[in-house]
Amino acid sequence: MGIALALTAAALWAALAVLRNRIDRAGEQEALLYVETRLRQMQQAFGDTVEDYGYWTAAYDAAMAGDVVWLYDNMGSVTEDSGLFDLILLTAGALPRSYSWQAGDRLDPQGAVLPGPLLAHLHAAVSADSATQDAATGLIRHEGRVGMIGAVLLQPIDLGPDEWLPDNLPLLIGIRYLSDGELAELEMALTLTDLELTVQPQPGLSHLLLRDVQDGPIGYLTWQSRRHGTEVIAALWPLIAGLGLLLVLMSVLIGHLVRANALRLIAAQRRARAQALTDPLTGLANRLAMNERLADARLPPCGAVVYIDLNGFKKINDVLGHAAGDAVVTEFAARLLAVCDPGDLVARVGGDEFAVLLPAVARPEARARALTLRIAEQVLGTFHPLGHPMHLSAAMGVALRDAPTTSDSELVRRADLAMLWAKRARQAEPRLYSPEIEQIASRDTRVEADLRRALSTGQEFSVAYQPIVTACDGRLARVEALARWTSASLGRISPEEFIPLAEASGQIGPLGRLIMEQVCADMARHPDIAVSLNISALQLLDPDFRPALMACVARHGVAAQRLEIEMTESVLVDDPDSAAMRLDALREAGFSTAIDDFGSGYASLGALRRLPFGTLKIDRTFLSPQADSTISTGLIEGIVRIGHAMGQSIICEGVESAAQAQFLAQIGCDFLQGYHFGAPMPLAELLAAFPPAPAVGNSAATG
Ligand code: C2E
Ligand code: CA
Ligand code: CA
Repeated sequence: MGIALALTAAALWAALAVLRNRIDRAGEQEALLYVETRLRQMQQAFGDTVEDYGYWTAAYDAAMAGDVVWLYDNMGSVTEDSGLFDLILLTAGALPRSYSWQAGDRLDPQGAVLPGPLLAHLHAAVSADSATQDAATGLIRHEGRVGMIGAVLLQPIDLGPDEWLPDNLPLLIGIRYLSDGELAELEMALTLTDLELTVQPQPGLSHLLLRDVQDGPIGYLTWQSRRHGTEVIAALWPLIAGLGLLLVLMSVLIGHLVRANALRLIAAQRRARAQALTDPLTGLANRLAMNERLADARLPPCGAVVYIDLNGFKKINDVLGHAAGDAVVTEFAARLLAVCDPGDLVARVGGDEFAVLLPAVARPEARARALTLRIAEQVLGTFHPLGHPMHLSAAMGVALRDAPTTSDSELVRRADLAMLWAKRARQAEPRLYSPEIEQIASRDTRVEADLRRALSTGQEFSVAYQPIVTACDGRLARVEALARWTSASLGRISPEEFIPLAEASGQIGPLGRLIMEQVCADMARHPDIAVSLNISALQLLDPDFRPALMACVARHGVAAQRLEIEMTESVLVDDPDSAAMRLDALREAGFSTAIDDFGSGYASLGALRRLPFGTLKIDRTFLSPQADSTISTGLIEGIVRIGHAMGQSIICEGVESAAQAQFLAQIGCDFLQGYHFGAPMPLAELLAAFPPAPAVGNSAATG
């Protein structure tokens, strides 16, 4: 911008200089022409004056008569007072000698004062010119002064018919010096300054070389030429300067506008880019920003990636509305950001998915572990979206850089996979990626696909039944129905594997209906048995579930009272209010309800109190060999007492020994279930081993 301005100014300056020089030179040439012309005109006029005196009959007669006095009185005296001549000279010719009169002298008796060659030259000029009878004129340097000279033959104006002019006519020569006054006049007429006669040309001044009548140099006329260009430019200078200033101002203004516009554009682009890379709800980086970060090879690689997926987020949205969901996500993002370090990239990569990219610093595994710990302790936990208190948990996956060649995108993929694994396992602790997960994941994909195929035919599923006996006398009280799947391609697959997969892939509904159908058919065939049916939380919350169940029992003619619906306590944690509502509806339809695996998770007794479960099943881990038996027995006793206080009947699962059975009976457990009494088996086998008691129905609840 500055450079362009300077260039423009320089170009303008150069153009003005060229223009000025042109005008100056033209002015100089013109002045020279004027001076030359004017000088010639002056000589011409002087010649005319000389002619006036030369063609003078009386003077001619006086000269012929040698009347010098007459000549002086009428001719020579002109040099005295008229100023027409400074010198008049009459050459001898017919006269006895030449005469000259000079301003200041009365009479010059000496005769000729001009050099002979000049006289000869003038003589020749007028003789040659005799046809035109013009005076010979020119310039001369005489006695150190420059003047005009004119010469003509002295002769009568007209001759008589028989008169002729003699050969020896005297030559009349007049000289008048160029006076200061004349120069001043010339100066004025031609608007010149410092017009001067000099011997040498003056540097910086214009000049005209003067030559005398004989063409010899006699000096210079010098003057100060008017520099029109310079004058014009000087006169126009304020205008030019004004215009220049205007131009500069305009350029500056335009430059400013262009710059401001460009800056605004850049800012807008930057803003649009920032917007495109930011999650509008949380202000965190979005997936696009994370992908750009991953693709940017200039950045140092990540040391670790932590992937977080909120649990039950969809339910928050469904039940409390999207505003509550947004509030949870916003609050979660703020808390998450607070526990991360400034160098971490925290991104919201999905509705309820977040990723933290940790820089490759020393011991990234320690940093990742510390971060997941902070997330578990300071980020997750109680939230109050729109005033509703709720518990938020999440599944976390961690991937650590194991080799320099592992790309950041690969780390993100691994962390995501590890998170999925934790999610499926319903595991609260973060899962660290290991290559085995890949096999599990690929097995999961295969099983999931195979499950879809198997469900489309429904051929490969069966139901096994496990006895539940009364604690006091070991008689069969009811049976628990457990799903079995033997895949044609993958072989036997445990429900611990395919049930979570069915839940995660949206197939639990069809699978549940298949099992339900078989159970009802079995119950119709064996009217003596009461059955516990497992359902997942997703099924309970599915609005179609209850109608389907009621239709199923009705179709098979099975009383609802013979069926107990079991579900794990995750139902309580995720969405207690809608769980309570649906449980109530089930009970109203005549089904009894049981909370399964009690004590394995997070359900609080407070929440339990609000939920209408008729039966409480103590989780089998309380009896597992790994459990600390003194603590476990204490807990079991406590649960039994509280359950009874709430009017629930208690089933203890996983009973594998007579001692356990005896202890549980002693502390007041109502029913027992476990390998000690029988593993899950085909119904016919079970009924052979346990001839059912004649009356069942609601007996489990009433003991
Ligand atoms: P669950 O409801 O807790 O079922 C009891 C599980 O404990 C069964 O495993 C059973 O074989 C096992 N078990 C029984 N007695 C003992 C014992 O004395 N010791 C030990 N260690 N284990 C014992 P299974 O059949 O593999 O079922 C696993 C889980 O799959 C079930 O746990 C239940 O949560 C789920 N499940 C099974 N069938 C269905 C179904 O039809 N629908 C739904 N939603 N879930 C089902
Ligand atoms: Ca169960
Ligand atoms: Ca159980």
